[in-house]
Amino acid sequence: MKIANITAYPLSFEIPEQFRVTLGIGSAIKRDCVLVKVETNEGLVGWGEAHAGRAPGTVAHLANTTLKALVVGMDAYDVVGVWKKIYTMQLASHGMGAACAIAMSSIDMALWDIRGKAVGWPVYKLLGGSARPVPAYAGGISLGYQPPEELVNEARLVVEQGYKALKLRLGDSPHDDITRVEAVRNALGSEVDILTDANTAYTLSDARRVMPALDAASVGWLEEPFPPHDHAQYREARTFGRTPLAAGENHYTRFEFQRVVEDRSITIIQPDLSKTGGITEGMRIAAMVSGWKYSLNPHTSLTGLNVAASIHLLMSIDNAGYFEADLSRYNPLRDDLCSWNAVVAPNGTVRPPEEPGLGVEIDESLLSKFPVIDGPGYV
Ligand SMILES: [Mg+2]
Repeated sequence: MKIANITAYPLSFEIPEQFRVTLGIGSAIKRDCVLVKVETNEGLVGWGEAHAGRAPGTVAHLANTTLKALVVGMDAYDVVGVWKKIYTMQLASHGMGAACAIAMSSIDMALWDIRGKAVGWPVYKLLGGSARPVPAYAGGISLGYQPPEELVNEARLVVEQGYKALKLRLGDSPHDDITRVEAVRNALGSEVDILTDANTAYTLSDARRVMPALDAASVGWLEEPFPPHDHAQYREARTFGRTPLAAGENHYTRFEFQRVVEDRSITIIQPDLSKTGGITEGMRIAAMVSGWKYSLNPHTSLTGLNVAASIHLLMSIDNAGYFEADLSRYNPLRDDLCSWNAVVAPNGTVRPPEEPGLGVEIDESLLSKFPVIDGPGYV
C-alpha cells in the first residue's frame, strides 16, 4: 500500500468575547490547527493533526508541498521510513526546524490512523497497549487570570465533573499567582492535585518568589516557567523548591528531549504529538525518558485527533502520567468537526476510542466553514 496523496487544511475560528481566557502568553482571541488527510493507492484514508505553530497557513503549505513531494509513493505502513526520509531530506539540514517537526507530526499521525484501519485495530493495540483508564487533568484554555473567587468557582465545577487534578495558569505576577494557588488549595482541600503552568512568562526572580509557595500548597508541577531554550534558568530554578519542573510542548523531536533528560532539571515530560514528530517520535521520547523513570504527560490540543493519539500513546507506554483534557468552553474544531472526543468518567479517567486507527472521523463537509485566519492567536 503506497502513499498516494497528502492534503493539509489550515483551519481557524475566532473565540467569542465571553469565552476568552488570559494566560501567560496573552488573551486567546482565536484558535487554529492544521488537519492532514493522507490517501493511499488502495483507497484507505488517514487523518492527522498538526499544531498551528502560530502560522497554520505556513505549516499546511510545507506539508502540501515539500513534505508531500518527499513521501508520496512510499510504503504507507513504513512510519519509521517516512520519518527518517523527512528527517534526512528536510529536518536535519536547511530544515525549517519547528515548522517541519510540526508538519511531519500530522503525516505520521495519519499514517498510524491508516495502519490501524488496515488491520482493524485501534492504535493503542498496534502500539502494544491495553484499554486501561488513564487519569485526566483539567487543562486547555481554562482556569486563567480571573479574580480568585471566580477561579475557585470554576475549579469547583471542574471537580464536580470528576476531575481529580486541574491546572492553574500562572505568569501574571508572583503575588497574584500565589493568591490564586492558595485560594484554590484552601477551597478544594488536599485531595485534588493542583498543577500550574506559567506559559514561559516567568523571570528567574519570579520563579524564586513563587516556588516556595507552590511547595507549601503541594502543587504537583510548575510547567514552563521559561522558554525551552533557557537551560541555565531551568537548572537554577530547580534549586528554588521541591515542586518538579515540567515542559515539553515546545520541545521538538527526541533530540531536544535528550538535552532535557541529561540536564535533569525538567522531570515531568510533556511532548505534544502534533508538534514533536507524531506518534512514532512520541514513543521514542517515552522510551528514552522511561530509562530515567520520568513520566510522560502529553500536551494536547486542539481536535479529537491529537486527543485520541495522546490517549492511544498513554495506553501503550510504561511511564504514562496524566492525560490533559481540554476544558476550553468554545472549540467547534473539537466539538463539530470530529466524531469523537474524550469523556471524563466520574472517577476522573478517560478511555481511548475502540474503532480502528485513531478512532476519529472528520466531517469533511465542515472543513470549508473554518478558513484560516492569519495573525496572532493571543494578544
Ligand atoms: Mg503548557
